[in-house]
Amino acid sequence: MDGVLLVLSGPSGAGKGTVCRVLLEKQPGLHLSVSATTRQPRSGEVDGVNYFFVSEEQFKNMVAGQELLEWARVYNHYYGTPVRAVQQALARGEDVLLEIDVQGGLQVKEKFPMAVLIFLLPPSRAELAARLKGRGTDSMEEIERRLQWADTELQYLERYDYVVINRQVAEAVVTIQAILTAEKCRPRRVKLDPSWVG
Ligand code: 5GP
Repeated sequence: MDGVLLVLSGPSGAGKGTVCRVLLEKQPGLHLSVSATTRQPRSGEVDGVNYFFVSEEQFKNMVAGQELLEWARVYNHYYGTPVRAVQQALARGEDVLLEIDVQGGLQVKEKFPMAVLIFLLPPSRAELAARLKGRGTDSMEEIERRLQWADTELQYLERYDYVVINRQVAEAVVTIQAILTAEKCRPRRVKLDPSWVG
């Protein structure tokens, strides 16, 4: 039986990175998809681990060669999910986690209707603003831009399957694990013993 394709989206500052890291530690058999991006690596980021860092030309070739399951332009850079690794992991029965933006999430749902889309949201807009300021990495202008983008992303919330409020990382992770467990009980996903299928 194929694994579950899990998509996690949400505004910048929602805590997606931390939630994904803890979820991957706690959930055996969950495989993180490594995206391709045209943005520059940040300090400490490793090519092939955090992202595949590619040029715009390489990215365009990947799009033309239909190598990407989905792709989008986010904050002036291109990001996309290499399709082959996802298909291979699902076929091996592994669950696959995509940490991608809403534009990408909706493309995935069109191609894979069985994909499970989770929207991770901070408890309030004020909390999101506080988290973005607390990071100390962005200018006030950048923070305002990210908050506005969060408002835009929120318009797609209804098209997601689940919303998880990230009050505490551990709680959000347990909730996502519960969603995964429930999704594995969908009749289409359960492999019945041959004695039941006369
Ligand atoms: P960052 O540059 O901070 O790592 O990521 C910026 C945004 O791009 C995040 O919202 C992240 O979820 C999104 N992102 C990362 N990889 C992909 C991808 O493969 N496809 C899409 N559509 N978005 C991505």
